[in-house]
Amino acid sequence: MHYDNHNIFAKILRGELTCVKVLESKKVLAFMDFMPEADGHVLVVPKEAVAEIFDLSDIAGAICFHTIRRVAIAVRAALKPEGILVTQLNGVAAGQTVPHVHFHVIPRRADEKLKPYKRTIAKLGKLESIAQLIRIQLEQSSELI
Ligand code: AMP
Repeated sequence: MHYDNHNIFAKILRGELTCVKVLESKKVLAFMDFMPEADGHVLVVPKEAVAEIFDLSDIAGAICFHTIRRVAIAVRAALKPEGILVTQLNGVAAGQTVPHVHFHVIPRRADEKLKPYKRTIAKLGKLESIAQLIRIQLEQSSELI
């Protein structure tokens, strides 16, 4: 997938579009997915401008994984799901829609099906209140790298 500098996540990273942030460092941004597949669905987005993991530097990949794990721990503490799904899609054939590499952290419960993929935009108030619960947990966890 070709990198397009005008993609939605590039605009969010440049501050041209808003998002509901849960954490940010010099290298990575994590925010609420606005069409969540489950309540508490967070996206982890490296600031490196690449579309797929094949082009991501090792250091950015390592920072992403550090952040994914940190976010997953915070989501688990905040929302107490039974499980957490971490996914990452490369290319249209894999279902990728935004051409800036990103990772999904999705809380899972055994009796709850995932919501239809990219169908319904969540209410901002609900995203904000879930994000706040996650942020509280992140504040108590280790430093970002
Ligand atoms: P993917 O299929 O892996 O490319 O998924 C892209 C994800 O980004 C989807 O889950 C969308 O709901 C999510 N998304 C797209 N635009 C935004 C946005 N402006 N704010 C938050 N999430 C978004």
